[in-house]
Amino acid sequence: MKKLFVRRAVAIGIVFIIFGVGLYIFLRPQKKPLPIVSVINKVENIGAVHTVIGQSIEKRNIDAYTYGTGKTHIAFVGGVHGGYEWNSVVLAYKFLDYLDANPGVVPTGLTVTVIPSANPDGLYKVVGKEGRFTVADVSTNKQVLASGRFNAHDVDLNRNFDCKWQPKSTWQTKIVSAGTKPFSEPEAVAIRDFALKDNPAVVVFWHSQSGNVYASQCEKGILPETINTMNVYAKASGYGAVKTFDAYVTTGDSEAWLASVGIPAITVELKTHETVEWEQNLAGVKALFEYYNQKKD
Ligand SMILES: [Zn+2]
Repeated sequence: MKKLFVRRAVAIGIVFIIFGVGLYIFLRPQKKPLPIVSVINKVENIGAVHTVIGQSIEKRNIDAYTYGTGKTHIAFVGGVHGGYEWNSVVLAYKFLDYLDANPGVVPTGLTVTVIPSANPDGLYKVVGKEGRFTVADVSTNKQVLASGRFNAHDVDLNRNFDCKWQPKSTWQTKIVSAGTKPFSEPEAVAIRDFALKDNPAVVVFWHSQSGNVYASQCEKGILPETINTMNVYAKASGYGAVKTFDAYVTTGDSEAWLASVGIPAITVELKTHETVEWEQNLAGVKALFEYYNQKKD
């Protein structure tokens, strides 16, 4: 009799524990969603999915925001050159705000990912802030601005990718560090892993300053789709279209590595280091949306 009572007590106890754990899982405080997600959910319930694709050396998150669920995935990346090209980050955030306010602009055939700040440590050197910033936050010290091009290891991330990589590379007339080996830098790894996992149909990198759209290539020439993408964006935005960047020799750049793994990539260089040229870039982006939505593969 006593045994039976003990067994029942144990059984009831277990039931309570399971119920308690279930209740805890159900009611535990949820991580607060980012404003960007909550805003869009309120509007049309097709939110940006926020993911963290990696962390910088100083442990800042590298965020990605994805809109739509279409078959063809296209990606936009700002701020590879950090604070030196802070306007490319502003453009990317402005684009996110635009997509939040106009979710219907993403065609049903597309998935669009925006990585607004690919070098958050380099950006931090110049704006002294995480995430969003305003022009008032931007340092006017030329040396600080130039240092913001590099990550916290003073590596030029756009020389750290695995295409013709060399330990030293060039930026204009200067010698820059390209890291200790291809993908030695966590920020470059984040972009690499994102691309290999999601296999985007095209990646657009926003940089500054030349007012041109550049194609990309590694060892095997420019991918045909890269040429088309360059021309579509250039025509709609009014920027020049340049097949080969030949102002100086570069090695290990992200676009070239993407080309080497068969992913078309273009570089869009804003005209200055301060402007975002919103209407021009919106026209370029919309033209790409249309082009990739219609494209059958
Ligand atoms: Zn750049």
